[in-house]
Amino acid sequence: MRRPYAFLASAFVLLAGCATGDVSPASTPPAASPATSAPTDAELPAAAGPERIVAGSVPVRPAQPAMAASFRADLVADHCVDRDVPAPSAVDADLVILDRTYALAPGAVPPDLDAATAAGLTGSSGTKLVRQVLTEDLAAMAAAWRQAGLNVIVESAYRSYASQSATFNSWVARLGYGAALARSARPGHSEHQLGTALDLTSPGWGGRFGDWAAESPEGAWMAAHGWEYGFVMSYPAGSQDLTCFSYEPWHYRWIGRAAAAEQRASGLHPRQFLERYVSG
Ligand SMILES: [Zn+2]
Repeated sequence: MRRPYAFLASAFVLLAGCATGDVSPASTPPAASPATSAPTDAELPAAAGPERIVAGSVPVRPAQPAMAASFRADLVADHCVDRDVPAPSAVDADLVILDRTYALAPGAVPPDLDAATAAGLTGSSGTKLVRQVLTEDLAAMAAAWRQAGLNVIVESAYRSYASQSATFNSWVARLGYGAALARSARPGHSEHQLGTALDLTSPGWGGRFGDWAAESPEGAWMAAHGWEYGFVMSYPAGSQDLTCFSYEPWHYRWIGRAAAAEQRASGLHPRQFLERYVSG
């Protein structure tokens, strides 16, 4: 049974985010550009107030100093230009920056992939591959879904470089190269190659490119609570200048509970927040 989700309205209105880097080749192409009613960047920091951090989620990493909401000087500012530059080293591999410029090598394969059944997921969700490093948090989040009476389906998780190449090429065939770039990451540029990204959906939600966060109780729950389990929405609404991709309220990336809590408290967009962890 679905629960009424009006109670989450304030949370998802603030957090509903923007487009992804990856899409399923079986999905229906978008009919139009992202909705113009999406929240603006100015609305996003308000959702990230420190008061939202719950007991038990205090960051483990040392607190980071305040950082201006701008790109690191040693990172390319025009990162939405399509290039294949090796992703900058991060202090934690889970926090590496990927965008339309920075990419993983074709041979980059996570060392600890495992079926999501290890996190207690069943059915088609259980067949998806995720890194073992997030199994515990995914299991806890799945338990929270069940407790809330929600049915969240993992539509896509780990994708290899070759798989992403096939996905991107399918979009090129459907939309043309230029339009495909806004909807699908080129191979090497997808967070799914990290083994820590999930595309989620829920039964009865048919709008693959609609606003899952606003149109389903499952999407609303994720927008409000995903961070508590270490999952952040990579491509929030109104942030295409930062993410280079359209709003993707179904795409979440695991960065760990501590980092997710820090990101929320910082008020920074996830893309900006990850710059803190660039090493060197
Ligand atoms: Zn995705």
